[in-house]
Amino acid sequence: MNSRLAPGVSMSYHEGMAERERPLRGMDIIHDSRSNKGTGFTREERRNLGLRGLLPYQISSQELQAQRVMENFRRKENNMERYIFLRSLEERNERLFFRVLMDNIRELLPIVYTPTVGQACQQFANIFRHAKGFYITPEDKGHIRDILNNWPVEDVRIIVVTDGERILGLGDLGANGMGIPIGKLSLYTAAGGIDPLRCMPVMLDVGTDNTELLNDPLYMGWPHARLRGREYQSLVEEFVFSVQDKYPKALIQFEDFATPNAYHHLKRFRQAVLSFNDDIQGTAAVAVAGLKAALRISGTPLRDLRVMFLGAGSAATGMAHLLTRALMEAGLSEGEARKQVQFVDEHGLLISSRKDLTPQNIEYSVDSEARDFVSAIREFEPHAIIGATGVPGTFSREVVESMAAVQQRPIIFALSNPTDRAECSAAQAYEWSSGRAIFASGSPFQPLEYEGKRFEPAQGNNVYIFPGVGLGAISVAASRISDSMFLAAADALAARVKQEQLERGSIFPPLTELRNISLDIAEAVALKAYEQNLARYPHPDDLRELIQGVMYDPSY
Ligand code: NAD
Repeated sequence: MNSRLAPGVSMSYHEGMAERERPLRGMDIIHDSRSNKGTGFTREERRNLGLRGLLPYQISSQELQAQRVMENFRRKENNMERYIFLRSLEERNERLFFRVLMDNIRELLPIVYTPTVGQACQQFANIFRHAKGFYITPEDKGHIRDILNNWPVEDVRIIVVTDGERILGLGDLGANGMGIPIGKLSLYTAAGGIDPLRCMPVMLDVGTDNTELLNDPLYMGWPHARLRGREYQSLVEEFVFSVQDKYPKALIQFEDFATPNAYHHLKRFRQAVLSFNDDIQGTAAVAVAGLKAALRISGTPLRDLRVMFLGAGSAATGMAHLLTRALMEAGLSEGEARKQVQFVDEHGLLISSRKDLTPQNIEYSVDSEARDFVSAIREFEPHAIIGATGVPGTFSREVVESMAAVQQRPIIFALSNPTDRAECSAAQAYEWSSGRAIFASGSPFQPLEYEGKRFEPAQGNNVYIFPGVGLGAISVAASRISDSMFLAAADALAARVKQEQLERGSIFPPLTELRNISLDIAEAVALKAYEQNLARYPHPDDLRELIQGVMYDPSY
């Protein structure tokens, strides 16, 4: 899997894709994003590869090229322009794109992924320049295994798939949701060191119920109402099992499916196929890591931790499930662990007599007189409240003050994205708790001062977890992903938070450490795979070295 290319670049993108030895020359190399170095080709390469006359005289180092890219990037007028600029760089010179992304991850993450990627999906048809990724529609039913042969890579290892129904907080964007798998896979490479050649973005284009798109002559997807029910499920099954047949070692990451389908697919495939759902399981691992780091500040033992969720959708129920596993690892029975987790949604506390609860919610319903959020907090006295509602302002002053009344160091996670949807802002959490809150959010908040003390609010970004989990799983050819692997990932992430970061209120490590974080997580996940007999490769002498060895390096 090591893709480090020898100087001279004889393995082209298409060649690499077809995995044949056919050295490209001349203009073909320049037009091949995987091989192209632009002005980075050395004098000798220019001579040997038929490039003389095709490039300006000066030779630039990759560092200089990266600097030039960033200068141009910063000159762009808005984030959409920056997104388009980066995507076209990737189409021209893949290694330079990843060099730039890796070296400027904090600055580029909001462009390559949320929030700008959401805008890019909304404008997908307008900014479309170059087909990327793999599209499957209901017309492919019965032929998916065949058409997978059109994808020219023999050894795909990571697939990110969506059906476009619940793109970020933007709803049903149909085939325009392809921007999401593409963006996530860029992060797999930049943060997790997965060779881009081994990545495959997939759009299960089963139609859309977004009438605006259906009426838009520029819409490029399958122009029908969404396939539902058995026909939908059977297309998803055919896709998953075709992938298993063609790429038996590939990990399938489900992304941005509507909640009922997300749970359905998770339940259907988690035991049978190397797969996970990032919205449910990835988010959960980030939250558990954040809680574990927060407990280092408050001094509360994990087995005592009580958590109340606001919102009871995919993200919150996924977090509750993994948290329950963490509490069980800390010594509680499943019943005891569940009693330490409660939910409130827009209709109030999830009590057993409610008739509107989903199967995932019923497990956590309680008998209580409390109905609204604040009275539920007073009764339950949670150590932490976690918001995953998508509704700003739902952590009101009264809510935060109630938390500050029942806990010395109240843990407040306002996870809804983007920043303006957060349940409360960092400033509100600190102010309303007199600086005692341990705060984290889903989207970034700037560092701030409260009563002379500097706080650096942490961002519980899923990018901390999924690249490392994927890297670990494929490095040992895991047969499936277990909850224990996500808990191991959460532990590895929490362990990277240094004492001085905790003192500034930061419960996640800096994003600049992503590559090393992913390496730690990958090692922890791979170890778990061996422990649980889920690894299909024999145990290597040095696991960390093996994983490090397969990590993609974009240097020329
Ligand atoms: P979802 O639609 O599945 O769930 C939303 C839940 O919130 C539902 O249970 C709904 O009943 C509840 N809700 C709505 N309005 C409410 C209100 N006023 N008060 C209380 N509850 C209310 O969505 P999801 O996938 O679970 O995502 C929810 C939010 O979490 C989104 O904003 C998403 O951006 C965020 N999220 C963050 C991360 C992260 O930070 N790493 C990861 C995933 C999702």
